[in-house]
Amino acid sequence: ALTIGIVGLPNVGKSTLFNALTQNDVLAANYPFATIEPNVGVVELPDSRLAELAKLHGSERLVPATVSFVDIAGIVRGASEGEGLGNQFLANIREADAIAQVVRGFVDADVVHVDGAVDPASDMATINTELILADLQTLEKAEPRIEKEVKGKKTDPVVLETLKAARAVLDEGTPLSAVDLDLAPVKELGLLTSKPFIYVFNVDESVLTDEARLAELAALVAPAKAVFLDAKIESELIGLDPEDAAELLESTGQAQSGLDQLATVGFETLGLQTYLTAGPKEVRAWTIPVGAKAPQAAGVIHTDFERGFIKAEIVSYDDLIDAGTMVEAKSRGKVRMEGKEYVMQDGDVVEFRFNV
Ligand code: GDP
Repeated sequence: ALTIGIVGLPNVGKSTLFNALTQNDVLAANYPFATIEPNVGVVELPDSRLAELAKLHGSERLVPATVSFVDIAGIVRGASEGEGLGNQFLANIREADAIAQVVRGFVDADVVHVDGAVDPASDMATINTELILADLQTLEKAEPRIEKEVKGKKTDPVVLETLKAARAVLDEGTPLSAVDLDLAPVKELGLLTSKPFIYVFNVDESVLTDEARLAELAALVAPAKAVFLDAKIESELIGLDPEDAAELLESTGQAQSGLDQLATVGFETLGLQTYLTAGPKEVRAWTIPVGAKAPQAAGVIHTDFERGFIKAEIVSYDDLIDAGTMVEAKSRGKVRMEGKEYVMQDGDVVEFRFNV
């Protein structure tokens, strides 16, 4: 499964947020691996379409798509010097498909800031510098080995060229994601600054409704996406029943909890989308990469479905809801038979035909 690694300076609210990510009882029951791996938190992707489809089919249960978050130990300034970033830290963060950086925006004299003052821009610069230095170290370490391999004709010279180009970018203090450089040849190195980034601003409740301040913070990180939440409120929301939670959320002026926003933004940042299956037993969202073709989508349900794929019966969610029933959707000609080359669309409601 694709995962998003959580990083940030100490005392910015990572643990508070992460506890909210892991303390959801429903999740713990549905996704047992989340409780086995103490550093993995799973959030459901909010999707109102599931409940609508369930009404239509009288389905017993809903199974939303999920996004996984991995808690990675904090970074401190200078971590990449001396001892360097810990090996475990690097191993965890290299495996992440995207990185969510938690940035402190809340003011609280009782919570010490590692650099003495709350300053989001400076905190982000600190983390980004550490990540750039970590990547430089990775490249410096790999270069002699790759040079040797290229001389011995064991490795394509393009690997060494890419490595050197990446090094030049990082030497300028620029993260790799900011330039248009094809990093595929050095993918195995798991370069941190090449990963997609999300910024999670942990702010005071009052800031959540301060549009001007939010716009200011969003501008600091654009074109990367920003999520705004109050980690303390998130951890309170988890403990409440749905009605009380909705009330608390409303009192903060938010339409969606921070965790829900984080799941949605994380999903987009990872380049994912969902298609839906619906029946009397369950309505379910299945996760596929944007651009996936029908057989690949079938393979997410079962590898046999991909191998034996014949065709897919597909109706778009909106057409189905407009029609009101599957029978009506069919009589309107909205239900299509699609073959192997069909590129899946978000919200396709699907039934696969396959050989076993
Ligand atoms: P970490 O070191 O990044 O994991 O930070 P923690 O989650 O342990 O938080 C550090 C301290 O800040 C704890 O005492 C938290 O209760 C407090 N804290 C976390 N989030 C907030 C917040 O949104 N507002 C306030 N006032 N305090 C917070």
